[in-house]
Amino acid sequence: GPSSPEEILRGLDPEQLEAARSVRGPVCILAGAGTGKTRAITHRIAYAVASGVVPEQQILAVTFTTRAAGEMRGRLRALGAPRVQARTFHAAALRQLSYFWPQAVGGPKPTLLDSKIGLVADAGRSCGLQLDRPGLRDLASEIEWSKVTQIRPADYEAAVVKAGRTPPMLARDVARAYDAYEELRRERNLLDFESMLELTAAVITDSPSIAEQVRKQYRYFVVDEFQDVNPLQKLLLDAWLGDRDDICVVGDPNQTIYSFAGATPGYLTGFSVAYPHATFVRLVRDYRSTPQVVRVANTALQAAGAAAGVAREHRLELVAQRPDGPDPVYAEYDDEPAEATAVARRIAALVESGTPAREVAVLFRTNSQSAAYEQALADAGVSYTLRGATQFFDRPEIKKALHTLRGASQGEDDAPLVATVRHILQQPQIGLTETAPEGRQARERWESLAALAQLSEDVAAERSGATMADFVAELEARAATEHAPGLEGVTLASLHAAKGLEWDAVFLVGLTEGMLPIIYAEEPEQVEEERRLFYVGVTRAREHLGMSWALARSPGGRKTRKPSRFLDGLRPASPSLAAQRGERRKQAKTIQCRVCAATLIEAAERKLGRCADCPSDYDEALLERLRDWRRETATEQKVPAYVVFTDATLQAI
Ligand code: ATP
Ligand code: MG
Repeated sequence: GPSSPEEILRGLDPEQLEAARSVRGPVCILAGAGTGKTRAITHRIAYAVASGVVPEQQILAVTFTTRAAGEMRGRLRALGAPRVQARTFHAAALRQLSYFWPQAVGGPKPTLLDSKIGLVADAGRSCGLQLDRPGLRDLASEIEWSKVTQIRPADYEAAVVKAGRTPPMLARDVARAYDAYEELRRERNLLDFESMLELTAAVITDSPSIAEQVRKQYRYFVVDEFQDVNPLQKLLLDAWLGDRDDICVVGDPNQTIYSFAGATPGYLTGFSVAYPHATFVRLVRDYRSTPQVVRVANTALQAAGAAAGVAREHRLELVAQRPDGPDPVYAEYDDEPAEATAVARRIAALVESGTPAREVAVLFRTNSQSAAYEQALADAGVSYTLRGATQFFDRPEIKKALHTLRGASQGEDDAPLVATVRHILQQPQIGLTETAPEGRQARERWESLAALAQLSEDVAAERSGATMADFVAELEARAATEHAPGLEGVTLASLHAAKGLEWDAVFLVGLTEGMLPIIYAEEPEQVEEERRLFYVGVTRAREHLGMSWALARSPGGRKTRKPSRFLDGLRPASPSLAAQRGERRKQAKTIQCRVCAATLIEAAERKLGRCADCPSDYDEALLERLRDWRRETATEQKVPAYVVFTDATLQAI
């Protein structure tokens, strides 16, 4: 790949270039979707490495999802910087914590909790709370919010009053359950994500020697999607940085979609206050999407900006760079299965006409919406992968493989990672064979195991000397946060999981009131977060953008659903039934003069079928020839026949 600094800078626009060249000190890129923020920071890193300003191993790039991290590593590899660390906050923290555990904490390592629900249920029960599944979920999110915003159980009640927040149940009950949750968690030696980040930050800040080691390793930081950083992640970032300021942040306030979970765009928009001497870069050219898609995105932005009272010039409107593409498609269906079937058929047609399946995504608001699309795509014979769901890690063969791999990672084995993983996966009780089997279930099993083997190659390629423990840590981070390693096919994902990514064709489905905005988004700021989610969804599409909704849930059901308010002003206004009827009536009543074709208004004339001005003794046959002549010569003029019937006209016809 290109390795000279000049080559790396080629292909950046002037503003991106400015960002890439600002290698040292604080840098902030604030720009809309698809303007090349991620590309700019990737090239900035590669440029810093190639020009010798920054040693490769001392850079930590933090991305929002493991897939984004993988993509960035891929791009960096292509740009000649394969040893740069690109990770999520969680993965980076987990590695450090495991490494420093014996020295900083000691004792048996805790188990990482990938979901709070079980523990929350136990905590609720121990407090005598009767909670159904949605109640448990609400309580789990509330505990998560409290931990992310650093509110202790004892301070919870006062904090919600101060924040003007409506708790999902009595604040006192939340506080009690939260307290019990923390106690049980410690008793059982479990670590949830928030505690994991918090503990990592504490390990660094509490020990000068660990702080020194960590800060010697990582000197340059880049954070993508900075608009969705939460106070805990910021705490960790500050611990990493110490008193240094080699930090580059990138984000788009209009893509803040995690504020419900405690994230705040304030760190991004307030960057100039924290670092007054920072380099600021604005990008406006949209390189991702066609003008047709950009138009939809800008309309959504306008509405969001207007709702938030943002001045027009601060709305980060996008300027399309790509050539024209197809118009966005808006489609209404009678019921959800009909919608899923139609979307799957459109996808099958796209794949048929040459779009690779991996270049297509179906995005929805809640994971519960995916089942209908899995079914419809399977029926249409199109392969797919599910993201943001744990399905992959729930498969028995993967569970078994993980168990064995985990066991192998405990030893002090220096054996090469890739070969070891293959060897383990090829054991008869796991059963990865050299070639793929033909029956369908065996084939699926084989594909998921092959994906594990492939992942070990990615991990090894990313860092020479990667160990089994590194590989297992990567797998655990994936199992807990994100998604399965890359099986090819149409992507089915929630809007939240789609951020930062792009596809040739994107289908936003289930766009009804109650789904997007989701039914529990009641406060105006919650609705605005839903609107930003819509904006994120729209801006994932390079070319084809489909937006659809269904009026009823199931076939024959009552059509009570309404299209999402976010579609207002976007889809061609479909005239109301009354207006359609009026139009038809008007057309039916339009009567033209048989001689001159003028529209007849007067009742007497309408009865006669001709203007009072036109002669009554017209020659019907001649008139017919005149009409033909007019049609042939495309004469639009509506001149009375008797004027036209000059000798010259008669000769002409
Ligand atoms: P998001 O806000 O969705 O994360 P982003 O601002 O990070 O978007 P990128 O993903 O970096 O945008 O870029 C969007 C697309 O545009 C990518 O396919 C990228 O390769 C392309 N792109 C970015 N900058 C340029 C450029 N200067 N010339 C050509 N293509 C570009
Ligand atoms: Mg990006």
